[in-house]
Amino acid sequence: MAIAHGDVQRVDFLVIGSGIAGLTFALKAHPGSSVAVVTKKDLPESSTAYAQGGIAASVGETDSWELHEQDTLTAGAGLCDPEVVRLVTREAPRLVDWLVDLGARFDQSKTPGGLPQLRLGREGGHSRRRIIHTADHTGQEIERTLVEAARRHGGLAVREYCTAVDLIVSDGECLGAWVLDTRAQRAWPVLARATVLATGGCGQVYRYTTNPPIATGDGMAVARRAGAMLANMEFVQFHPTTLCHPGARAFLISERARGEGGTLWNALGERFMLEVHPLAELAPRDVVARAIDMEMKATGAECVYLDLRQIGAKRIVDLFPGIYERCLSVDIDITRRHIPVSPAAHYMCGGVWTDLWGRTSLSRLYACGEVAYTGLHGANRLASNSLLKADTRSVPELSLPSTREEPGAVRAALQREMWQNVGIVRSDASLAAALAAVRELMADGVGHGPIDASIESANLLVTAEAIIECALLRRESRGGHFNQDCPERDDLRWQRPTLLSRTETPRPPAG
Ligand SMILES: Cc1cc2nc3c(=O)[nH]c(=O)nc-3n(C[C@H](O)[C@H](O)[C@H](O)COP(=O)(O)OP(=O)(O)OC[C@H]3O[C@@H](n4cnc5c(N)ncnc54)[C@H](O)[C@@H]3O)c2cc1C
Repeated sequence: MAIAHGDVQRVDFLVIGSGIAGLTFALKAHPGSSVAVVTKKDLPESSTAYAQGGIAASVGETDSWELHEQDTLTAGAGLCDPEVVRLVTREAPRLVDWLVDLGARFDQSKTPGGLPQLRLGREGGHSRRRIIHTADHTGQEIERTLVEAARRHGGLAVREYCTAVDLIVSDGECLGAWVLDTRAQRAWPVLARATVLATGGCGQVYRYTTNPPIATGDGMAVARRAGAMLANMEFVQFHPTTLCHPGARAFLISERARGEGGTLWNALGERFMLEVHPLAELAPRDVVARAIDMEMKATGAECVYLDLRQIGAKRIVDLFPGIYERCLSVDIDITRRHIPVSPAAHYMCGGVWTDLWGRTSLSRLYACGEVAYTGLHGANRLASNSLLKADTRSVPELSLPSTREEPGAVRAALQREMWQNVGIVRSDASLAAALAAVRELMADGVGHGPIDASIESANLLVTAEAIIECALLRRESRGGHFNQDCPERDDLRWQRPTLLSRTETPRPPAG
């Protein structure tokens, strides 16, 4: 079907994405400014809606933001931006208050004096109980709250099933984006004083991922094509414990399950995490994921086992109703038997480079949430940025992906390649092989299918290429990036982010 072209639309803010980052920004934008939110599926469809464990905030009696800050810095293995960590950990309780004021219902318990207080869970790497949650469907509750607030707001022009195809750039400034209504097959340019990428992560570049199908790295890809800088794309976080069952592969088993006392066992019946880290099952995610990967390889098994039985049947059902039901649906009663688990791609720690205020390297383009490299969830600081001048320049033509290969086949081939060669343990040779394979897929082009699937597959390729390029640039191992050809951490040369601009393309190491 041919794509019809519509008239130019002008707004103050164009927000791309309707997860926690996009909707928080949109709801906090200055009253009186015109805000358009475009989102490529239904408004609530986002990674946010699938979050299980909760939000970390230092609201407990024995907790402080300084402890939260320290835990974050420790898990970040020397690569966090301390200023950003400080800002986020200090602001976290206020974000929770804001969500509660908006109508979010988080689980509560009673103080000894009988007053209600937030019930706090614990997760890996946290030295205190500080995870605010709604059973094991916290994200759904947050997304419900934000979507209802957005619908009540009246001042937000929300467009569902509208994909941002590419940014519109002129003279080094982002003027807005080409938006495609995938149901009406109509595209039009939206010009904005500020464009905000809130498109989430890119887990779909991997064969096994906890991420929903929308997580195709669109924001990273459009930013890269527009010349904005990406950073630290090699740091893909693999979640250690996802269900290893053909009926529900990669369904997330929340880290809180280990926080409440769940233990990990290998196929030989050994509790291997005791040997690996002083925090055992509560070690940082990358440590647990790598230990599981090693156990699976050493024993030849396709999974390890998570045992929750010590938590007690009633408490398990009470704390983890969603996980209990999902596992039961594939005949695993987690109150009576251990759960087969293996790691899956979960979260992108890198992304579009931004400063503390969410500004990217491209003028008038902002990024927040998982698409951004700062790691800031939500965008409360963006709203106070000063607005930029209106625009009368001409809009460059929309260009859609070229056609040759079927987009589903491209996606599947890419996911296999990335899982095999750019997973938890990498090597120079595996990265070089993956880069060659991805570039071959790029040269073939994608198409012959629904236009939205073609756009996503093209974006997945750009994002995957960026992940591999960053992984090749970093000549050390740290956190979520482990290269067995340079297995040590090298603070002297690499205690800094890898930066990727269009002019800096790494070559695979020689030999
Ligand atoms: C299963 C699971 C469990 C998790 N559990 C937790 C947890 O317990 N605690 C925690 O802190 N984090 C958790 N996370 C991570 C967290 O949910 C995400 O990092 C966070 O929700 C990302 O929010 P976001 O707003 O940046 O992106 P998202 O929530 O993914 O929203 C992205 C939005 O952008 C839209 N979009 C994408 N591309 C385009 C485009 N081209 N055009 C238009 N719209 C587009 C999408 O449709 C979507 O609306 C979990 C993630 C998953 C997948």
